Amino acid sequence: MTIRLFGCVCGQFHSPGAGLGMAAERVSVPIPFYVVEHPDGVALFDTGLHADIANADDPYRQRLRTQGMDSTVDEGELAAAHLERLDIDPAKVRFVVLSHLHFDHAGGLHQLPNATVVVQSREWAAGFDDDMAARYFLPKRFYDLGHPVKLVDGEHDLFGDGAVTLHPSFGHTPGHQSMRVRSEMGDHILVGDACYTCEALETRTFPAYSDHAALNRSLDSLLDLRGEDTVMVFGHDPGQWGERPVLPSTRG
Ligand SMILES: [Zn+2]
Repeated sequence: MTIRLFGCVCGQFHSPGAGLGMAAERVSVPIPFYVVEHPDGVALFDTGLHADIANADDPYRQRLRTQGMDSTVDEGELAAAHLERLDIDPAKVRFVVLSHLHFDHAGGLHQLPNATVVVQSREWAAGFDDDMAARYFLPKRFYDLGHPVKLVDGEHDLFGDGAVTLHPSFGHTPGHQSMRVRSEMGDHILVGDACYTCEALETRTFPAYSDHAALNRSLDSLLDLRGEDTVMVFGHDPGQWGERPVLPSTRG
């Protein structure tokens, strides 16, 4: 079996443009997550939103709205629904690699009951430290679900064959990580929220709460990884998920 990479959009995040480094007054951006099919198992990179976010009365959504933001999702966009369309049983997903613990990345974890969560040690520690969790908006509700957890420090080779590698890209949150996948779809660096959009790679606009010096270093080291044909896939770039998505979400 060859290695395949899929990219799925799980709802939208709505925010003042300034919060995402964009010029428009209000923006809606896609929330992607990724599926890697490897001979030794299926791995996800991020999980999108929790199913409860479909409900406008959900307390986390209510809190977002008091801060001028919101997030919306249809049932068919949730992680389990995407996996079923790919003929992948969510209960058989082996690894869930979390770039970080924000609600729009860790939210779908509840639909992947038997996966081992793979996360940087310092991100997991921040997620269980009340002060750090508050400062970086890490909502335990979405990730403290009792999954087995594999903590990693720095770079990590997920399947031991160089095909799927994790790369620390701290700054957006204390232990953010990115993932590189070499598959039959090519060579992709899944940047995560180390950079929201292709444009932000140039302008280096980052959220106010993040560590900007660390983010600049992280982006420089991700750029250094690139080969001639490497495609960078950004955290929430509307241009990468429009009519011609950067990755397929189905086998079609
Ligand atoms: Zn984030």
